[in-house]
Amino acid sequence: MTGVRQPQRRAFLAGGLVTTAALITGCSSKTDSTPAATPAAAASATPTTRPDSPWTAFARLMDGNERWVDGALQHPDRDPGRRELVSQEQDPYGVILSCIDSRVPPELLFDTGLGDLFVLRTGGQVVGPVVTGSVEYGPLTSGTPLIVVLGHQRCGAIKAAYQAMSDGKSLPGNLQAISDALRPAYKETVKSKHPDPVDAMIRIHVKQTSAALRSNKDLAPLVAKGDLAVVSAYYSLDTGKVEVLTGAPSA
Ligand SMILES: [Zn+2]
Repeated sequence: MTGVRQPQRRAFLAGGLVTTAALITGCSSKTDSTPAATPAAAASATPTTRPDSPWTAFARLMDGNERWVDGALQHPDRDPGRRELVSQEQDPYGVILSCIDSRVPPELLFDTGLGDLFVLRTGGQVVGPVVTGSVEYGPLTSGTPLIVVLGHQRCGAIKAAYQAMSDGKSLPGNLQAISDALRPAYKETVKSKHPDPVDAMIRIHVKQTSAALRSNKDLAPLVAKGDLAVVSAYYSLDTGKVEVLTGAPSA
């Protein structure tokens, strides 16, 4: 069978780690053998090539965002052939950590297809050990070359946390855990005396989060080798545009 290739696993990865991680998570990861493409998959539209470097992954995402802004969506790799192609293995080229906000779905605003992205969404895109572990899953087990920490305009979670901390109050229930996770961003925001503190806090928070990921002991070696970039970015609800704040890889 020719014309369709299963996603290729990056050669430097240790098979043992991949296998272990797959067992832990139950996620389908790539195997050492390359299954033959099925007739149905071969008959589908030619799948796009997976970006294999931080720069190509970043460029792919930003191209998709440009299409979203322009209203020129391609909806790539969303057909039954693609579903069949990635049914046994996955090889996403990006990890997106974004907010639960219903207006910020990464697959839409980057115009991506099935199997392209690992997506994590929490209120105000806050992290904790479980979320950070999930962010690390792709880069550590299958060489995912890009992480984007994406904040957004008028984030309700960050606005609520900012107001609660300003007033010295707690948020109800487990929402307080989100507010607690945002305290470092709040402190820096207060110091900045920005005229629009909530918007400043949104930007400060994604920059802090991406810096922490970039320098953590497991991801830092990948960043140092140029195999991984961690980008902080801000999404405009008004225009649909993703503005890169820090960490953009170069070609
Ligand atoms: Zn939000």
